[in-house]
Amino acid sequence: MSGKKSTQTVKDLSKAIRAGDRVALGRAITLIESARPEDQARARDLLKTLLPDTGKAIRVGISGVPGAGKSTLIDQLGVNLISQGHKVAVLAVDPTSSRTGGSILGDKTRMGQLASEDDAYIRPSPAGASLGGVTKTMRETISIAEAAGFDVVLVETVGVGQSETAVSNMVDVYVVVAIPGAGDELQGIKRGLLELADIIAVNKADNDNIERANRAATEYRAALHILAASSAAWQPAVLTLSARDNTGLDALWDKIGECHSTLSEAGILDERRAEQATAWMREIFEQRLLAAFKGGRRAARQYQDIEEQVRNGTLTPTEGAEALAELVGLNEPEKEQE
Ligand code: GDP
Repeated sequence: MSGKKSTQTVKDLSKAIRAGDRVALGRAITLIESARPEDQARARDLLKTLLPDTGKAIRVGISGVPGAGKSTLIDQLGVNLISQGHKVAVLAVDPTSSRTGGSILGDKTRMGQLASEDDAYIRPSPAGASLGGVTKTMRETISIAEAAGFDVVLVETVGVGQSETAVSNMVDVYVVVAIPGAGDELQGIKRGLLELADIIAVNKADNDNIERANRAATEYRAALHILAASSAAWQPAVLTLSARDNTGLDALWDKIGECHSTLSEAGILDERRAEQATAWMREIFEQRLLAAFKGGRRAARQYQDIEEQVRNGTLTPTEGAEALAELVGLNEPEKEQE
């Protein structure tokens, strides 16, 4: 359209993706990551076409501080799973990549074994996007990967800011990779992260580290016991492993499967996914609303004005939000009748 070079139709593209064509998969993800309105429209059509083929993978979040061994683990686990007949997609969520100028996650050079496998697909975090942008893209990318036949989707994120929460909102099972600390065993992991974890994998349990890893695991179990007392269907599990030596990885995968089926049988998985879908819709709508609002020139000036007042403390955030609501007519009393 509009004189651009002819591109595959959405129908052809979706057919190629279903057939496992990697070029088509890459093209679809590029479409999803594109900010151009015509690309976004095609991406929407594509997702709609592929919808019946989505949702079938086991989606696993993998988080942990830099150096914990995430990429070593994903590399080895991925290879193990492929040898068992799985197809593994690895996606990364790293909102800091826009600041550091280069993605440190999902980097193929960090997953050398897996990168050379035909049944693996590794996609680094989209650069230059906000967390909101990255998560929107990532959710859609998960769906496309599922339609392409990947039955395991690993979403890697680094323990920065809110990316862990964002990832926990798009996966079925959340694994935190921890390392035995020196002294304070819990130092390598934030308390908030513990609350998200379905499984804690204490990595680097090898050589003279085994003892420390076991001690760390005991501490995590104690900490989780206190935190997770109110949790219903799944009691978070803690295990030790060595990604480097490929020990304990089968047990990890078994535990992931156990968690997945327990949550599934309890109806929690469907609930999680339903809640994730509606939260996703809200998020997209909010972003569009805000974009449209800021796009109107007069409104945009007023928006900036109000934002500036909040920034310099003339208005409280609540007052600012109130002023914005007024600007779009949300405060008119007759609207409340409905
Ligand atoms: P990431 O930043 O979390 O992705 O961590 P990496 O996978 O890059 O690993 C960080 C460092 O820890 C590297 O030097 C790895 O070789 C090392 N490492 C990863 N897993 C293990 C393990 O199981 N045992 C030992 N001893 N070292 C490991």
